[in-house]
Amino acid sequence: MTEHEVVVVGGGCVGVSTARHLADRGVDVAVVEKEYAVAQHQSGRNSGVLHPGFNYEPGTLKARFAVEGTRRTKEYCDDRGVPLDECGVLVVAQNEEERKRLDALKQQADENGTEARIVDADFVEEREPHASGVAALYAPEAASVDSRKYVNALAADAERAGATFYLGHEVRDASRDGDGWRVETTKGSFDADYVVNAAGLYADVLARKMDAGTRHRVVPFRGEYYELTPDAADLCETMIYPTPDPELPFLGVHYTRRTDGKVIVGPNAVLAFGREAYSNRQFSLRELAGTLSYGGFWRLVSSRKMAGVAWDELNKSYRKSRFVSAAQRLVPEASGDDFVRSYAGVRAQLVSPDGELVKQPLVEHDDSATHVLNAVSPGLTCSLPFGEHLADRTVERL
Ligand SMILES: Cc1cc2nc3c(=O)[nH]c(=O)nc-3n(C[C@H](O)[C@H](O)[C@H](O)COP(=O)(O)OP(=O)(O)OC[C@H]3O[C@@H](n4cnc5c(N)ncnc54)[C@H](O)[C@@H]3O)c2cc1C
Repeated sequence: MTEHEVVVVGGGCVGVSTARHLADRGVDVAVVEKEYAVAQHQSGRNSGVLHPGFNYEPGTLKARFAVEGTRRTKEYCDDRGVPLDECGVLVVAQNEEERKRLDALKQQADENGTEARIVDADFVEEREPHASGVAALYAPEAASVDSRKYVNALAADAERAGATFYLGHEVRDASRDGDGWRVETTKGSFDADYVVNAAGLYADVLARKMDAGTRHRVVPFRGEYYELTPDAADLCETMIYPTPDPELPFLGVHYTRRTDGKVIVGPNAVLAFGREAYSNRQFSLRELAGTLSYGGFWRLVSSRKMAGVAWDELNKSYRKSRFVSAAQRLVPEASGDDFVRSYAGVRAQLVSPDGELVKQPLVEHDDSATHVLNAVSPGLTCSLPFGEHLADRTVERL
């Protein structure tokens, strides 16, 4: 039996950041992670973009954390030598209707205190000669970061501050033991006064095992990427995004130049047949049955709009030509041969029993546990202030 004051379950950016902030406050904290390295799931399989906050409703925790997280993560990466490209983003409008939506984004950016301006087609052409757009929102604070190296740097800091990492330990169960918890893993048990559940795609499962009473469920949505071939990589210099549809939860296929020079295109958003199913050929019957037996999932997809979106996204997954068409809307010169399949990530999207996609971070606390049920995108961007916030709430309860 190993004892720690706090056990954090999950070595993604949220768990590791929380552990680092707890260790900085002198708390005896352990991170228990089922993989043999940190950042193997959402935190290492994303677009690696620091989203500076123009796309989030003013006054929300997400908006605050995105603005603060972008600035702090840049400073942190500079300081620790984590690859970072402060390239800014262009959100392009293809027609007058989209152009009007840019005004709303600009207004949000102003209210959130992040820099953004509306630019004309000449500006777009100068910055991104191959992009198409009648106008754009230019947000210079957006940046591209190597997310795995970032989380590894945070983990090294946490260890230096006294945190212990138990990799390759999968938490099977956690039950009350006096005022604290007994956490059972595949490699032995832990006693803890407090548990922080930052298990990402499995956070709702662990919360139910710990009797947290949540009725929401994670529905896994896979995001698949293509990448531009080296010959075509100069079709995108920085980052080119479509104007977001305010009614849809995902940003839509976009171009991101990563810190290693590759240009990734995506992600789409398609139901994954398992929480860690990274291709259409991978599935978990038990997890798929869990999704299909959840009333919230059927309420979500039964709306006409969502059913249409789901069909469209499925097509982008199975038919390259559909994916390429979405990408060509932003860069018309790109041809099918310029795109090759790349990696995929799975989003832990929390869905309420009445079929709503939960868009804000959702955290539930009781006297000896915190459950991070929805570390929704841009969770990577938010991870420094979010982890600090979770550490502060934990210390208050210890
Ligand atoms: C395709 C995609 C693109 C994205 N793009 C961006 C972006 O550009 N910018 C941005 O800011 N955000 C982005 N996000 C969102 C961001 O990646 C997530 O919000 C963030 O990584 C969530 O971190 P996490 O620590 O909560 O989860 P995770 O990184 O999934 O970590 C959870 C950890 O818990 C572990 N775990 C689970 N169950 C157990 C168990 N029983 N025992 C022990 N360990 C367990 C897992 O192995 C995992 O390591 C994207 C997400 C996806 C999927």
